[in-house]
Amino acid sequence: MNIVLLGAPGAGKGTQAAFLEKKFNLVHISTGDIFRANIKGGTPIGKVAKSYIDAGKLVPDEVTCEIVKNRLSEKDVEGGYMLDGFPRNLFQAEQLDSFAKIDACVNISVDSALLMDRICGRRVCSCGASYHISTLGGRTTCERCGQPLYQRADDNPETVGARLETYNTQTAPLIDYYAAQGKLLTVECGNASPEEVFEMICEKLEGLNK
Ligand code: ADP
Ligand code: ZN
Repeated sequence: MNIVLLGAPGAGKGTQAAFLEKKFNLVHISTGDIFRANIKGGTPIGKVAKSYIDAGKLVPDEVTCEIVKNRLSEKDVEGGYMLDGFPRNLFQAEQLDSFAKIDACVNISVDSALLMDRICGRRVCSCGASYHISTLGGRTTCERCGQPLYQRADDNPETVGARLETYNTQTAPLIDYYAAQGKLLTVECGNASPEEVFEMICEKLEGLNK
């Protein structure tokens, strides 16, 4: 099973991806994580990506599509994967359909009023875990692996405003794109906890195989 995770910044794609990875053994591919690793490593891709990411804009399609295409040509994805943060516009979605076979798009729908607080209060670990300051109780290290938590450079109010705008104008149209293909599975989060959201996603995905 190959799935696309769709949702605004802060919707919880990464959190749900971690649950899905465990339960269904799907390989988690996050373009944001790939860019951040490149920035950290000072690679040419990282140098290009940084200015766009800091501005809350999309990294150019040529760069992004090439990365994903290469990643999907590796052996480990043969048993199924989930894309987190890709595609992010119609062009990327069409490109993806030219080199991959997507079975479903899980659309994680969250009230947009919640997103700013969620992202600005987010603390992450380099192992992929993600927390919110409201539930950390002052804790500064990762529960999963013990490393220090930090705030992503683009998780500040100015950049988040631009990222939400980019999502609304460029990424949200993908909801209709996948609906037209009959592949859209929308989960309305409301006040649901991450575990409850995961339950809803599982129900939808299990419904697919019937
Ligand atoms: P979030 O979903 O919280 O915004 P991500 O880690 O998915 O965080 O993405 C961080 C940034 O990386 C984006 O704001 C964008 O600049 C860049 N990026 C990630 N994925 C893509 C993509 N598919 N196309 C272009 N830029 C991307
Ligand atoms: Zn950790």
